[in-house]
Amino acid sequence: MAYKNFRIETDVDGIALVTWDIPGKSMNVIDETSGAELGLIIEQLTSDVAVKGVVVTSGKDAFCAGADLTMLEAMNRTHAQMLNLQGEEAANKYLFNEARKLSQSFRNIEVGGKPWVAAINGTALGGGFELALACHHRIASDNAKTRVGLPEVKIGIFPGAGGTQRLPRLMPTMDAVQMLFKGEAIDVKKAQARGIIGEVVPAGDLILKAKDWIKAGGKAVAPWDQKDFKLPGGAVYSKAGLQFFQPATAMLRRETYDNYPGARAILQCVYEGLQLPMDTALRVESRYFSKILRSKEAAAMIRSLFISMQDLNKGARRPTNVPPANVRKMAIIGAGFMGASVGFVSAQAGIDVVLIDRDQDAADKGKGHSKANVDAAVSKGRMTQAEGDAILSRITATTDYNAISDCDLVIEAVFEDRMVKAETYAKAQPFLKKGAIFATNTSTLPINSLAEEFKDPSKFIGVHFFSPVDKMMLSEIIVSEKTGDVALATALDYVRQIKKTPIVVNDSRGFYANRCVMLFLFEGYEMLLEGVPPAMIENVAKMAGMPVGPLSLNDETALDLGLKILRATEADIGTQAINQDHKKLLVEMVEKRGRLGRKNGRGFYDYPEKGKGQKKLWPELTVLQPKLLDPDTIDVEELKQRFLVVQAVEAARTVEDGVITDPREADVGSILGFGFPPFTGGTLSYIDFMGTKKFVELCLKLEKKYGSRFTPPKLLIEMAAKGETFYGRFTSKKAIAA
Ligand code: NAD
Repeated sequence: MAYKNFRIETDVDGIALVTWDIPGKSMNVIDETSGAELGLIIEQLTSDVAVKGVVVTSGKDAFCAGADLTMLEAMNRTHAQMLNLQGEEAANKYLFNEARKLSQSFRNIEVGGKPWVAAINGTALGGGFELALACHHRIASDNAKTRVGLPEVKIGIFPGAGGTQRLPRLMPTMDAVQMLFKGEAIDVKKAQARGIIGEVVPAGDLILKAKDWIKAGGKAVAPWDQKDFKLPGGAVYSKAGLQFFQPATAMLRRETYDNYPGARAILQCVYEGLQLPMDTALRVESRYFSKILRSKEAAAMIRSLFISMQDLNKGARRPTNVPPANVRKMAIIGAGFMGASVGFVSAQAGIDVVLIDRDQDAADKGKGHSKANVDAAVSKGRMTQAEGDAILSRITATTDYNAISDCDLVIEAVFEDRMVKAETYAKAQPFLKKGAIFATNTSTLPINSLAEEFKDPSKFIGVHFFSPVDKMMLSEIIVSEKTGDVALATALDYVRQIKKTPIVVNDSRGFYANRCVMLFLFEGYEMLLEGVPPAMIENVAKMAGMPVGPLSLNDETALDLGLKILRATEADIGTQAINQDHKKLLVEMVEKRGRLGRKNGRGFYDYPEKGKGQKKLWPELTVLQPKLLDPDTIDVEELKQRFLVVQAVEAARTVEDGVITDPREADVGSILGFGFPPFTGGTLSYIDFMGTKKFVELCLKLEKKYGSRFTPPKLLIEMAAKGETFYGRFTSKKAIAA
């Protein structure tokens, strides 16, 4: 029988080599057709008496990237339709049966009576790795770039094709659960050390060795289907089990605050499954899987973190009338904290970089940042010396603006001072080559006003990076009223080259990300001034799903910078534009007490010297609180809501103001840019999934108690009245409504 996505060649020894190779795609994924074909192949090879054993591999560089999430998304949509037409029982049954299919196919490999070997020639993730786990033996080629793992939890679900059962039967429960909780993908050597890959061999020998294992009498029975099988981490109800499962629940709470049903289900599957025989355990896993799949957290995360992010990475907002740009050489003016980091990530992406600063020492210091990064990566084995040298050879440090003349892109990252910026624009413009574009990394100065300094404003654009540049995956691209299509397209192509995710926003003070996150910081000040204990402020923010508390974040971004921004806003727009109590608090911290944040070891927290202990909230902070509330009288749920609502309502305002034009960008930008809780799907999904009407009611309640920062904009009130969602009202046909 011929298959669309697989080739089968059976050799003279009766060993069938199944090569997965989806035509026209760069990666194998488990979609509806390959899932169904895989099921048929397993049946066919199991019943074919001529076949003695099976080796499964891939015809692509990677083994398999996992399930096609659009398929899961479509299953959810069918479930929703069935719910309306046929009721809950039929709809849930449908989803359970769909979830069972792959799991059952993989189980058929395990109990089919023939030895199967996974020949892992490249990265194997999610369902692809679950296929490998169901094989009786796993051999990987010694490719340092290969990663194996089960990352499903990162998009709100969990491995539903046996992953939660086979992993803790192959390695100690604690290690398996850690790997599942983190969605960790590890290299093959590590996987071998953990006992989840049997052999690592040279790439050229992979298939040969896989066949050798079968010929040498490799067993067609999984260890857990053998009578004397013992769980590597001990039985659930054993001393070892007790030592793990009790703290595991606490660990889950500490890591997730129980905001992620997918993570909770991992623990439930492992706890229940390890007490059961494999077939029943897999049924239990499928039940949880179909339940989690229909959770709003999974829907929100799949939509924002997979579908929307992929769309944005592929250039959803790119003008189609401009041919693709490939930035080969670029200049960065201002080789300080940001410029140096942008230079490093660009050189890492293969771009030649000229770092320009006021004097040679400053430019050299900028290049020194890359040298330090390279040295660290080489010493940790993450990069070879040759790769590191190649990166450094692409960076030139200079003071000479002539070097701009053959650059495709210039990024300015000098001091946040209008005059200094204008001065560099005047100097750089005469050297800009035809077709090159000029970007600023300003974080606060309106792009429209900076563009006025430019002779040809169509070439001018904002490309706002987040710190630390090598870790933060977002770039916020800001278009001015006069930015041309070529500038936008080139900026997007460049961001893609350096493998970051772009969002495109229109100009406004704080653009999009800072505008929202600023309100999170301010809410922290508000709570402090109301008398909420500082530790409670920090913990509640994390309970709400933020990665760090507002006081901690403030320390990282520096309190003096916060004060500077407040003063600049006041000078530009007037005293009513800022909260004078916030300014008073910062003046007290920065100017009277010299507490600038982490950078001088003293902020809302006290920082120990490097390597000595942990940071601690500054004990005297309570002295600055006008009153102190009794923690038992504080409504924790309301504090949590305030942190998220205040950011989400600002995001809604950015839509009303025309800063954000596509909800996907607000959502993805909020998660990647400032850590808005991923389980919500992002700022606007948070509103959509709550329901606009309910959200507006919550805003009005909070407005009454806490003031106008919670006042819902007209747009939201109108949407609530009409029963609209952001995705329903604003998204192009391609995106999916909530
Ligand atoms: P920085 O002070 O670390 O670096 C600025 C660099 O510009 C210095 O090396 C300085 O010598 C150089 N410089 C000053 N005048 C110059 C001139 N006329 N010609 C050439 N070089 C000159 O500042 P930074 O934190 O890197 O910020 C740079 C820009 O990036 C600012 O616009 C800032 O708002 C923006 N930004 C900063 C962050 C952040 O977290 N620090 C985040 C996003 C954006």
